[in-house]
Amino acid sequence: MIVEEPFSLTPAERHDLAGITAELGVRFVRGSVAAVDPAARTISVEGESMAYDAAVICVGARMRAPFRRAATLTGPGEAPAVNELLAQATEHPSRRIAFIVPPGVTWTLPIYELAMMAARRGRELGYALEPVIVTPESGPLIMFGPTASSRVYELLRARGVSFLPASYAREEDGEGIVLSPGGNHLDAGALVALPLLEGPGLDGLPHDGAGFIPIDERARVRGCESLYAAGDGTTFPIKQGGLATQQADAAAEQIAARLGCLSDPRPFHPVLRGKLIVGEESLHLRADVGGGGGEGVASDDYLWWPPHKVGARYLGPWLAGEEPHAEPEPPRRPLEVEVALPRAWHREPMALDPYASLSRD
Ligand SMILES: Cc1cc2nc3c(=O)[nH]c(=O)nc-3n(C[C@H](O)[C@H](O)[C@H](O)COP(=O)(O)OP(=O)(O)OC[C@H]3O[C@@H](n4cnc5c(N)ncnc54)[C@H](O)[C@@H]3O)c2cc1C
Repeated sequence: MIVEEPFSLTPAERHDLAGITAELGVRFVRGSVAAVDPAARTISVEGESMAYDAAVICVGARMRAPFRRAATLTGPGEAPAVNELLAQATEHPSRRIAFIVPPGVTWTLPIYELAMMAARRGRELGYALEPVIVTPESGPLIMFGPTASSRVYELLRARGVSFLPASYAREEDGEGIVLSPGGNHLDAGALVALPLLEGPGLDGLPHDGAGFIPIDERARVRGCESLYAAGDGTTFPIKQGGLATQQADAAAEQIAARLGCLSDPRPFHPVLRGKLIVGEESLHLRADVGGGGGEGVASDDYLWWPPHKVGARYLGPWLAGEEPHAEPEPPRRPLEVEVALPRAWHREPMALDPYASLSRD
């Protein structure tokens, strides 16, 4: 897990794409896509033109550091130096370390994990710190709904992390980080921010003002025949690995239906599954953001299966070494059943069949 990397001796999991594709019987070509020509149905890879019948574009988004003064939480192997940041914060009169969600497109859950893990590390090191999350969100992880959000708020309070909602941070020369509304300067000894995401802006593809590829509910690239896109590079506003796989599922079903292998392809119906890991504990959050599934929930129990960080129909089970499930629902809970046993069994349990007295034969 990326966020745990600075706190553990184990690096985040990595998997070799060539190995995965070989397992699936798929040809793997390593190379950078420079452009797509939807009219000619070709993709330009490393100077070569590749023809396609159907193509799914999954090149992700481009990450940008939002603030010069802040460490940015990006990908594996680029973890911020948490111990140094904590030491910096203790030397500052405010003793504050701020975890900032920049205004714009991003996935906010990792900064909550980092803030709570860093707070714990600070306590272990004997530092008296003031960790705070600064975010444009109206409540903690509010995209999961108000009930789930209040569970996250309780967790933050229990871990000694303050929460500053509806705050838009911007960097000003000579002023540091300034917050809107109010225009107050953010007084902190150390700053950590999530990255801002920009669309891939691939040549030949339609895109919105920020470079994201517009898709419909079947993951079809708008205005392009036989072309699909999934993941952070698309215009869907929530950028999350689990949702990326759900868009890919919709694209795959659509292609399978066109080939006559599937009669009823399902559209993309976003269900957000987020696992907030804080040391040994984790809180499972789920929200049917596509609508119709009721209010979002938070639970200490598993809400999907396998309970991986990326809740996905194929990728989750694959990462857990299991077979894919039709839907990633958790197994049913075990039922506790009370059985009255004969007195003789209590005296010598191993000598008697406890179920014999219950048998009708
Ligand atoms: C710190 C952090 C923690 C996160 N934790 C979680 C989590 O726990 N669970 C979760 O569900 N989501 C998490 N997310 C969000 C998740 O990482 C993304 O939503 C997800 O990776 C998006 O998948 P993607 O395939 O669209 O893009 P990516 O994962 O970015 O993959 C795109 C791939 O395409 C390649 N590529 C880019 N351009 C080209 C090109 N021109 N030609 C060929 N290849 C190209 C890239 O090198 C990359 O390998 C986290 C994000 C961050 C920043």
